[in-house]
Amino acid sequence: MADLYDCIIVGAGPAGLGAALYSARDNFKTLVLEKFFPGGQIINTDKVENYPGIDSIDGPGLAERLKAQALKFNAEILMGKEVTALKKLDDGKIEVTSGDHKYLARIVILAPGSGYRKLGVPGEDEFRNAGAGVSYCGTCDAPFFRGKEVVSIGGGNTAIEETLHLAKFVDKVTLIHRRDQFRATRILVDELMEKVNQPNSNIIVKYSSVATRIEGADKVQSITLKDLKTENQEDYPCDGVFIFVGMIPNTKFLKNFIELTDAGFIKCESTYMRTAIPGVFAAGDCRVGAAMQLVTAINDGVIAAMMQKQYFRDPNWWNAPATDILQPGGW
Ligand code: NAP
Repeated sequence: MADLYDCIIVGAGPAGLGAALYSARDNFKTLVLEKFFPGGQIINTDKVENYPGIDSIDGPGLAERLKAQALKFNAEILMGKEVTALKKLDDGKIEVTSGDHKYLARIVILAPGSGYRKLGVPGEDEFRNAGAGVSYCGTCDAPFFRGKEVVSIGGGNTAIEETLHLAKFVDKVTLIHRRDQFRATRILVDELMEKVNQPNSNIIVKYSSVATRIEGADKVQSITLKDLKTENQEDYPCDGVFIFVGMIPNTKFLKNFIELTDAGFIKCESTYMRTAIPGVFAAGDCRVGAAMQLVTAINDGVIAAMMQKQYFRDPNWWNAPATDILQPGGW
């Protein structure tokens, strides 16, 4: 007989650990299955400065605290447990398979996270791993580049929003895009171009260009850019490289279980994090429309964990419109 839990959480990143804290503290029998170690993307973050109420903390330190807090309320966290399959059973429970072990849950919160798409150029991994000038998050890291010159790469909404954000901190930001038209929405492109066209603007845009190499000694010092129209290469000095070329959700194992977008994000509504399968929530960067921030990932997980109570009380709540008023005391 498989072990039965009220709540099984897939993934121990911020979304999963936030969910675990709330679920366990509400006295639900809670299990977290994590493929590697708790923490998700913050494990690779030197300094977190945008977690409200904490001035500054190293990513692994915060991950440890999130884990400890969930354990304090008796959440069970198993590491090295890759979930390979999920199945909705006839009696409404959900079967979760990891290796040759099967677990049963009354609800499941999917929180496997996502990873940044990489450029795949020499220097990218080395400078990223050393925290020496390659970043995938302007919102997180812009303050570390105050007064410096940086390059940002990409042509989607993230690249433009983050370039505008970086421009508030750095002396100069050069946005590199591989085509001569942006994929981003018109309103963002207009905002960018308005700033670019101001006298003494600190934003420069280079179109039809790609990065081929990131170079430096202890820290990033330059990037090699290739103009795709002329084939000319140039060594472009910079103190940092911000890469915004999309995200890849960790959802391959879910493709036969739940509906994903073309890009692989889990489809769900974003008020209570319900998917189309009753009892299955999605939380954090794996879900469509996620804000891709530490705080918002925790927010998703907490909401999903709180809403299990509503579902247990009335399974029909699953199909109620997101705007419906919760039952009194529903939280
Ligand atoms: P995205 O929309 O997939 O854009 C990725 C960009 O990176 C594209 O411009 C793409 O170029 C470029 N790119 C991909 N691989 C590359 C490579 N190897 N070398 C150079 N450039 C490369 O990703 P995103 O901007 O992260 O956005 C993800 C999703 O979140 C989107 O649906 C977006 O609309 C949404 N989002 C929305 C908002 C908002 O509404 N405010 C903010 C942020 C994100 P091509 O254009 O040539 O393919």
